[in-house]
Amino acid sequence: MKLSVVGTGYVGLVSGACFAELGNQVTCVDIDEEKVEGLRNGVMPIYEPGLEEIVEENYENGNLEFTTSLEEGVKNSDIIFIAVGTPAKEDGGADLSAVKTVAKTIAETMKEYKIVVDKSTVPVGTGDWVEEFIAEHQKNDCDFDVVSCPEFLREGSAVSDTMNPDRIVIGTEDQKPAEILDELHQDFNAPILHTDRHSAEIIKYAANAFLATKISFINEIANICERAGGNVVEVAKGIGSDHRISDKFLRAGVGFGGACFPKDTKAIVKTANENDYDFKIVDSVVEVNEQQKETMVNKLKNLLPNLTNKTISVLGLSFKPNTDDMREAPSRTVIKQLLEAGAKVKAYDPIAMDEAKEVFGDQIEYCEGTYEAIKDTEAVLLVTEWDQFQDLDLTRVKRLLNKPIFIDGRNCYDLHEMEQEGFIYHSVGRPSIS
Ligand code: NAD
Repeated sequence: MKLSVVGTGYVGLVSGACFAELGNQVTCVDIDEEKVEGLRNGVMPIYEPGLEEIVEENYENGNLEFTTSLEEGVKNSDIIFIAVGTPAKEDGGADLSAVKTVAKTIAETMKEYKIVVDKSTVPVGTGDWVEEFIAEHQKNDCDFDVVSCPEFLREGSAVSDTMNPDRIVIGTEDQKPAEILDELHQDFNAPILHTDRHSAEIIKYAANAFLATKISFINEIANICERAGGNVVEVAKGIGSDHRISDKFLRAGVGFGGACFPKDTKAIVKTANENDYDFKIVDSVVEVNEQQKETMVNKLKNLLPNLTNKTISVLGLSFKPNTDDMREAPSRTVIKQLLEAGAKVKAYDPIAMDEAKEVFGDQIEYCEGTYEAIKDTEAVLLVTEWDQFQDLDLTRVKRLLNKPIFIDGRNCYDLHEMEQEGFIYHSVGRPSIS
């Protein structure tokens, strides 16, 4: 089939490359000229395992094209996926300006039947609005359908998630686009769920809000364990063995971040408010998460009350491993708190250093490797659980540190081992070693 995917970010580029890999003719469109030029020359704008290979292969075999011209994308395709960003506005609602710009160009350029598929995460009712907007601004009077197909991929495993999704949601009550999209998605070998458009739009927010709730829930259990005694890892195992609960998303830590959970939780609370409903649970999930991001530095301050001019090592800057995405990353809160307390920061991340430089500028010192970041510091704060941080040479770490203080925001180390090595070790929801 002939498709265009508008917005060549985590969702658009990965989806476009995967559709091309399955034999479709895909035009990826982005307004960012540098990004498009880079992609044409084999430069990936993001880090995702396995992405570069399928982009290169399909660009070379002609299944995948990159352009800045949406007009060209519309002309070259029967199905147009909207995958532009929908960031949070100040009031917590989703900023739909990019969706609107795309809808306008589609309306002005389409000359024959098109299916417009919204893959971006958008508030309920956006599909109705896009449909009305295209109908109003159409230059040529042609038939079209607007469908909601929310995306569930996770950064860090986006290619494999796209190729092997748990389900595909197709939100439309019209038979023609439903059948065409069924055919397009059949090679993914995943259950297809047909819903009305509003339900599809709500499914995406409900899924993210539920997962975020599990994280904030286990983080609060961790906080109780720290105060009352207990080990949250054991508790998570104990409750997660119940199939009704499941052990997924029950890992206590320093809070969730990234491009989706923070903005989507706020957006569904906003949608609820606009519909005269107070979504108390998710409102609290957001609040708990903000507090959780501050727990690491609070623990450090209990050990080192005066951080002025003390150098602290921060390991891991991206919001989670295997991505370079720093949007709403807990490391931002951790580093901000450290700098506000007068500390100096030495940081290292295996992939996100360039992104981090954009965020922190010259406020922190960027190191070439893990041990360089630890050397001559007063404490190490492990913020993101990259594989290489889970297998440190602890004897070397202790030797490099001025004080053997290790604050582990992801419960990567065994308590007994840390005690044996002689660390002052504080993790999340587990007994501390002082
Ligand atoms: P992103 O910021 O990585 O990419 C968005 C891209 O859209 C950028 O390259 C930008 O240049 C481009 N763009 C903006 N305006 C444009 C326009 N008018 N025409 C063409 N291109 C334009 O965003 P993302 O993370 O891929 O997210 C896209 C959407 O998918 C969001 O709604 C997000 O909530 C949702 N989503 C994201 C993920 C994720 O893990 N990142 C997962 C599921 C759903």
